[in-house]
Amino acid sequence: MAWMLRLVKIGGEGEGPCTDIMEIRRPDDLVDIANLGLTLAEAKLLLAGVQREIVAAQARDHAVRRPSCARCGDVCRVKDYRDHAVSTLFGQVTLRLPRFRCAACGGIEAGVGWPSQCRSTPELDRLQAHLCALMTYRTAADVLGQMFPVDAGTHHETLRRHTLKVGEALGECAAVRPETPASAIMVTLDSTFIRSCENGERHLEVRVGNVETQSGGRQVFGAVAKAGTDIEALIRRNLDAVGRTGDTALTAFTDGCPGLRRILADAGVTTPPMLDWFHVAMRLQHLKQIAGALPTDAGALPTDDPARGAARAVIVEEVERLHWRIWNGKAKDAQVGIDRIRAVMHHFRGEPDRRRSNRGRSDSETHFRFGCYWTPVPTGASGSLGCSRPGRLKNDE
Ligand SMILES: [Zn+2]
Repeated sequence: MAWMLRLVKIGGEGEGPCTDIMEIRRPDDLVDIANLGLTLAEAKLLLAGVQREIVAAQARDHAVRRPSCARCGDVCRVKDYRDHAVSTLFGQVTLRLPRFRCAACGGIEAGVGWPSQCRSTPELDRLQAHLCALMTYRTAADVLGQMFPVDAGTHHETLRRHTLKVGEALGECAAVRPETPASAIMVTLDSTFIRSCENGERHLEVRVGNVETQSGGRQVFGAVAKAGTDIEALIRRNLDAVGRTGDTALTAFTDGCPGLRRILADAGVTTPPMLDWFHVAMRLQHLKQIAGALPTDAGALPTDDPARGAARAVIVEEVERLHWRIWNGKAKDAQVGIDRIRAVMHHFRGEPDRRRSNRGRSDSETHFRFGCYWTPVPTGASGSLGCSRPGRLKNDE
C-alpha cells in the first residue's frame, strides 16, 4: 500500500497550488505488528517536510512586503537576497529573504520586522531549556534527537550554552503577579552539596526551594551559594509570582539551619521556619541511636549511679513514643514526652558522645546535637506537621 501526502494551500480565492510532501509505503498485512501505522522515522520525515513547505510559503509572502526607508521615508527596492538558516523543532529551515536599498538616499534596510539575528524559534529554545532542566545536557540532546527531526543544535555543548542563556534571561525578568492575591503561601528552603565539575572546587552549596499556594500556584527556585545570585531577591520574586501581598500568611519550612532562617528573614519571611517531616524524622532517628547508646552503668563517671539505668529506660521509651506522636500531630503529647526526657537528662550530663566515631553521616545530620530539639506544632498552610523553635535537652559539647 502507498499514499502520497499532499499539502494544499488555501487562500482567499480557494485552493491554491499543492505540493507533494512524501510518499508513505506500508505493508498490506498486519502479520508483524511493527507495520501498524507510521514509524517514528516516517513521522519525523513528514514533520520536516510539512515544516519546510510551510516556511517556504511564509518566506515568499513575507518577501513581497516592502519597507519604507528608516532615514528618509522613501520607497525601498530589493537589493539582493540572503539565506537565513533557522532551527525549528521540526528541522532546520532556510528562508530566502530580500534586503532592500532606498531609492532616494541609498540606505540599506533588512526587511519588514525580521529579526536578523534570529537562529532558532522560541518554541525550540523553550523545549530545549525545559528538557535540560529535567535531565543532563547529553540526555536532553539525545531525547530531542530521538523524538523530533531537529537537525541543528543537538550537540550537548550547544544545548548547555542555549540553556544558560535562557536561564540568564529568566533571572532578569520581573515577576508577573497573578490577578488573585494569595491568602497563604508555604515556602520551603533547603540546602545541599553537589560535587563541582570545575577543577579546584570540591563542592558547591546549592539552595533550593519552592513556594506554594492552596490554589495550586507553585514556583521552584534554586541558586548556588557564593555565585553572585541574590537568593533573597529570588525568593521575593517567587513569592510575588504566586500572589504575595501584605496580608498573605507565610509559613516556612527549612532543615533547621540558622543560615537558611536568616535568608528567609531577609526575604521577608519573618515568622520562624518550621522543620519539615523529613528533617524531623532524621533527627528522631539520630535521637534513637543516641538513646540506644546511653550507658546504663557509671560509664565515664567516677561514681556509681543506680538511677542511670532507670533514666536511660525512660529516654529510650519516650524517644520511641515521640516518633509516633509527632507523625500523628500530637503536639501536646510530644511536648510531655520531651519534658520527661529533659527531666532525667541530668543523669548523663558530661557524658561524651559515644557516636563520635560514626563516620559518613550526612552534612545536615551533623547540625544536630543531642541537645537540639524541636517541638512539633500543626501548621496552618499545608495541613501537615511542622516544628517550632528548638528547646534544650542537654548542653552541647
Ligand atoms: Zn532613504
